[in-house]
Amino acid sequence: MTTQLVWFRNDLRLADHAALIAAAARGPVAVLFILDDETPGHWRTGAAQRWWLHHSLASLGCDIAARGGRLILRRGRAGPIVQVLAAQLQADVHTLIHHEPWALHQLDEAGELTAHMGVTLAVPASVLSGSGGRYRIFTPWWKKLLDQMPPPHPRPVPDMRWADTAHIASDDLGAWGLLPTAPDWSGGFADWQPGEAGAAARIAEFACRAARYDAARNLPSVEGTSRLSPHLALGEISPNAAWHGIADAVGETVAEPYLRELGWRDFSANIVDQFPDHGDAPNRETFARFPFIDDPAGLHAWQHGQTGYPIVDAGMRQLWATGWMHNRVRMITASFLVKHQLIDWRHGARWFWDCLVDADYGSNSQGWQWVMGSGVDSSPFNRIFAPVGQSAKFGAGDYIRRWVPELAKLQGDLIHAPWDAGAALIRAGVKLGRDYPQPVVRHEAARARALAAWSDVKAG
Ligand code: FAD
Repeated sequence: MTTQLVWFRNDLRLADHAALIAAAARGPVAVLFILDDETPGHWRTGAAQRWWLHHSLASLGCDIAARGGRLILRRGRAGPIVQVLAAQLQADVHTLIHHEPWALHQLDEAGELTAHMGVTLAVPASVLSGSGGRYRIFTPWWKKLLDQMPPPHPRPVPDMRWADTAHIASDDLGAWGLLPTAPDWSGGFADWQPGEAGAAARIAEFACRAARYDAARNLPSVEGTSRLSPHLALGEISPNAAWHGIADAVGETVAEPYLRELGWRDFSANIVDQFPDHGDAPNRETFARFPFIDDPAGLHAWQHGQTGYPIVDAGMRQLWATGWMHNRVRMITASFLVKHQLIDWRHGARWFWDCLVDADYGSNSQGWQWVMGSGVDSSPFNRIFAPVGQSAKFGAGDYIRRWVPELAKLQGDLIHAPWDAGAALIRAGVKLGRDYPQPVVRHEAARARALAAWSDVKAG
């Protein structure tokens, strides 16, 4: 029987993996992962996600070894490597379809293979309007997607017979240098459990509190969301399994707010499928002439949580320390960079890409273009988040106390705007400019500057 080579990409799981299931049904299976930093246009996996990738591959390798198989690891330009290996093993090749432009480019270069569906809830191009057009706005797209929902139930790991790959060279995972060395900044990542078992544990844990998701999901001080995003980004759990893991536990009606967020992930893939350069080019052309400011010091302050705005600094420090940031705070920090500091959203998107364990080309680009106002479906530019108002409205006090400990002694709402705290600031032992930065901009002035810039752009 012909050997079946399964080429894993960011779908590092054995369960509900259409390529693995198809391969196992046809013949002896060989399995491969390629660390690809070379295919043109590839947004190289960022530093934080490289940490995750190391552990996820170690976990996948162990799961495969426990079943008697061997995960082949290679590094380089994926397409040619797949071709050579397929020829060596005289194998048919299977993989899953990913929608990033470089992932499609890899497919073009890999030669003949079968690409299966399994990264999204539905094939992006299958969600069409009555006239056969593609959607670019979330709500009508979501309503139409629901015609195809619920997705099929996730399928178990197939029974596999392994191909003999003893003669095929494989890299040593440790030698890839995916983990940080000096300095090792990953101490705050210890709560994560990368890998398929970690994803299963995470969804089981979240299912117990999913009924409270809608009430808690916007509150950064509360553990209200699933934190499943890095597992989904690396494909350690399929979106179908995430859907059923929650919908079957609490019922589709209660699960709806969560399923809708899961829908945003699919929607992002739908947008990337239509705008492959979504990560670099604004969807709306007007924004190509936006007068961003070149402000390296301001960018550095934002990146390192030193803007003087507690909610912004808390978010950026959580990101740095843990590789993840709460969604509400992602919106606030991103908005602050592009509207208060007038710094190009692409600088922010690249920083997030490097720091997020859940970095996903579609979701990240969509998030930034939404905040900027430049996306096909986005918040209007003149909707400018007030960081202090957002921080108070969503009860971020305890979140700030955790991530900005120099302000921890400020009581109640004073913590959102320390420059207004007066004597309480002195009692808390904080001097602005010494213990905690003065604000890099003043909200009202920054808001007026952003609106003026936008007026100029619109006037052409
Ligand atoms: P939950 O609230 O539990 O949501 C469930 C799942 O739905 C998530 O795991 C995620 O896969 C998906 N999801 C939720 N919200 C969104 C959304 N707005 N867009 C797309 N998918 C969503 N998400 C990423 O996965 N990777 C990114 O690189 C990324 N970058 C972002 C950048 C910006 C500027 C913004 C505003 C948002 C970004 N998001 C990104 C979306 C969102 O912030 C995260 O998906 C969410 O915070 C992950 O936490 P969770 O798993 O607890 O989410």
